[in-house]
Amino acid sequence: MISQAKTIEKIILPTPFLVGPVNIYIIKGDLVTLVDTGPNTVEAKEELERSLKSLGYLPSDVDQIILTHHHPDHVGLVESLFPHAKVIGHEKSDKWLRKDPEFISFIEGYFYSFFKEHSVPVELIDKMVKANQYFLSFTGTRGLDEYVKEGDTINGLSGWKVIETPGHAQSHISLYHEEDRILIGGDHIIAHISSNAILEPPYSEEESRPLTLVQYRNALQKCLDLHVDIVYSGHGKPVEDLQGLLQGRFEEQEEKARRLRNMIPEEGITSFELCKQYFPHVYQKEPTLTMSEIIGHLDLLQSRGELATVKKNGFIFYHKI
Ligand SMILES: [Zn+2]
Repeated sequence: MISQAKTIEKIILPTPFLVGPVNIYIIKGDLVTLVDTGPNTVEAKEELERSLKSLGYLPSDVDQIILTHHHPDHVGLVESLFPHAKVIGHEKSDKWLRKDPEFISFIEGYFYSFFKEHSVPVELIDKMVKANQYFLSFTGTRGLDEYVKEGDTINGLSGWKVIETPGHAQSHISLYHEEDRILIGGDHIIAHISSNAILEPPYSEEESRPLTLVQYRNALQKCLDLHVDIVYSGHGKPVEDLQGLLQGRFEEQEEKARRLRNMIPEEGITSFELCKQYFPHVYQKEPTLTMSEIIGHLDLLQSRGELATVKKNGFIFYHKI
C-alpha cells in the first residue's frame, strides 16, 4: 500500500495578511481532494493554477475541497476557481462562507455590546468590526455542500477521519490518518506561531459564548492523545515533535495566565484595562487579537475558580479569588 505521505502535495500561496503565506494540500486518493484554497486574490489564484499545473492538474480535476476553517486565507478561492468541486467543512463555516447577512449583523451587534461591557472604547470596537469586514472581502459567497463532524470519514479519501479542533476558529477541523500517523492541522497547530484563540459569539440562542482558549487547549490535548508523527500545518513548516511543541505552548499559556492574575488589583479591573497594560504597544493596532488573548486567559483562570467577575456600572470587573 502506498504511504499517504507520498500522496500529499503541499502548495504555498501568498496572502495579503500579516500571517504570511498559507499552505494548502492536495491529496490524491480515489478522488482528488484539496484541503483549503488560499485567499481570493489575483496573486493566490495565479499561483494556485501554476502549482496545480506543475503537479499535473487543472482546477477542474479537483473533485472536492475540505476547508479546515472559515478564515479568508483558507477559503477564498472556493467560488472562483472550483465551481464544480464539492465543498466540505464544519457546519459552523457555512454562514461565514455565505456571508449570511443576518449572521454577520448578529455578530457585529453581539460584539458591540460584549466589548462595551468589557470597557472597550467604541472607536476600537468600530475598528474590530471594520477589520472583520475587510477580511470577509477576501472570500466569495459560496457555502458548503456537505457538513462533517467529529469522527466522520470522507468519501474518496480512505483512511482519513475528521477531528473537531475548535478554539482558533469555532469551525475548525483537522484531518487524521491513523495508520500513517499524519495530521493535517490547519491553523490549529503551527510550528512558528502560537495560534490565537479568537473570540467568537455563540452560534445559536441555546449556546453561551465559547471559551475559546479553554476549548483550544482541550483540542490540543485531543491531538496529543492521538498517535501523530507529522502535522501538516496551514502556515510554515510541518511539525515533527508535536509533544515538545505543545508542551511549550501549554507552559506559555500557564505563564501568561499567572502574569495576568498577578496584575489584577484588589479593587478589580476590566479586561480592556488589563489588555492595555499587557499589550501597551499593540492593543490599538490589533484589538481583536489582543482582546482575544486577554479574555481567553481570564476565561481559563475563571474556569479554574481563580477569578470571579462582578458587574459594576455596566462594566465587567475581574477579581482574584
Ligand atoms: Zn485561521
